[in-house]
Parts: sequence; C-alpha cells; structure tokens
Amino acid sequence: VYAVEAVDLYKSYGDTWALNGLTMRIGPGEIYGLLGPNGAGKTTTLKILAGLLKPSRGYARIYGVEVSSRRVEALRLVGYVPENPVVFQNLTVEEFLRFVAALRGLDWREVSGDAEYYLEVFGLAGRKDSFMGELSRGMVQKVLVSAAFLVRPKVLLMDEPTAGMDPESQHVFKEEVRRLSSKGVTSLISSHQLDSVERLCTRVGIIYKGRLIAEGTVEELKSRV
Ligand code: ADP
Ligand code: ADP
Repeated sequence: VYAVEAVDLYKSYGDTWALNGLTMRIGPGEIYGLLGPNGAGKTTTLKILAGLLKPSRGYARIYGVEVSSRRVEALRLVGYVPENPVVFQNLTVEEFLRFVAALRGLDWREVSGDAEYYLEVFGLAGRKDSFMGELSRGMVQKVLVSAAFLVRPKVLLMDEPTAGMDPESQHVFKEEVRRLSSKGVTSLISSHQLDSVERLCTRVGIIYKGRLIAEGTVEELKSRV
C-alpha cells in the first residue's frame, strides 16, 4: 500500500484549473520533493492531501484510506506544514503547539518533551511565550515544522517548509526528516527551488500547470536536461 496516493486530481477555482489530472504515488519512508514554479499547483495538491480542500475530480489516499472531510482516520496519520499560517498570529508559540496537540487528541504531558526538544534544536527555546505574529518568517516555519513533527505522524505533508529558514535550521530540519524516514515516516516536501531539497529527497516530481511532467531521482532528472 502507498503512503500517499493522488490519482487523476483535478481542481478548479472558478475558471482557473489549478490541477489538471495530477497522479502521484509515494511509498512508505520516501522523502519526495514536489517541485515546480509558483502557480504550478503545489499548495493545492498538499491541501487536498491534508483534507483541507476537496478535489473537483479524482481522489487522494493516505495509507489506502481516502482523504475526505468525514474520514479522520487518514488525517490522524498526517503532520501538515501549511503555506501561510496567518490565523495563528495571536497565539504564543507554546499555545500554538498545545493547540495542534489538542486538535490531534494528544495529551500535552505526552508531547511537551518533544516540543521542548524541537524548540531547543531550532534555537527557539527562549521564544515559547512570543506571539506567532512577532516572529520572522523563518522562525514561524520552525514552529510549524516542530508542530508537524510533534504529532508523531506517519506522513509529513510540508508546503515550502524551509522558506526563510537560516542554513543551520535547514540542516536540523533535513537531519530530522532523514531520521524519521529511517523509521518509516514518509515526507512530501514542496518547493520552487531544487537546491533546497536536492540532497534530501529520494525522489522528486516536477509539477507544471497542474500535472506531473517528470518524476525520478534528482540524478535521473538532471541527466535528462
Ligand atoms: P503553487 O503552490 O505551486 O504556487 P497553487 O496551488 O497555490 O500553486 O496555485 C495553483 C493555481 O491556482 C494558481 O494559478 C493560483 O493562482 C490558483 N489559485 C490558488 N488558490 C486560489 C484561490 N483560492 N482562488 C483562486 N485561484 C487560486
Ligand atoms: P509561493 O508558495 O506562492 O511560492 P512562498 O510561500 O514560497 O510563496 O513565498 C513567500 C515568501 O517567502 C516570498 O517572499 C519568498 O521570497 C520567500 N521565500 C520562499 N522560499 C524561500 C526560501 N527558500 N528562502 C528564503 N525565502 C523564501
């Protein structure tokens, strides 16, 4: 069974077709990079996989379970890094992490140790009481990534997770994704820059105008151009 499966996805926003028959299958433990220019459909794909948007056609499955608003089983397996978390401006970092844990039915006492660990390695140990709205883009990304790791997911869906992050934190992020991968955790990482993920991803897919136009290892794709 695939960890992540998107089959023949179409999505329109009014007259705009953001997805035009996107099919993508990712196995357990893979670190998959979804690469493409702005507007290609990356965020739409991740939102559908995270159960936040309904496709106009096609389906998305997480470990064989179709993702849809009423099927929470699939979403329990997922850690999600959204693109633009404007709604959390008025929560402190700790409140945000507690909120994410609570949403997932996790007892804070069970995960607070992990929360402290991630804030520490990302250099945010002194920022627990800062408001999300006061943080730089990179700091917000580190909190979002920490939250996604915190829920002990089988599948990580991450939309431009390292945007604005300092190089050292990008390194911490990659090491953690690799460690989780070795334990069977699957990562789907979107990016508009190949460099930011090329040494991390076991496989990449190139998305353009709502379809996958190429797929393979970074070496395979580079040898074709
Ligand atoms: P990417 O993440 O690759 O930049 P998106 O999935 O955000 O791509 O967008 C794909 C296309 O859908 C773009 O043309 C974008 O302008 C359009 N789009 C995305 N969200 C909306 C929306 N809420 N309303 C209308 N058009 C949208
Ligand atoms: P989109 O999803 O539409 O491509 P992004 O969320 O990637 O938009 O970009 C939002 C802002 O973050 C932009 O100002 C962009 O310059 C910045 N940004 C995105 N990715 C990175 C990155 N890897 N490093 C630094 N800044 C980034």
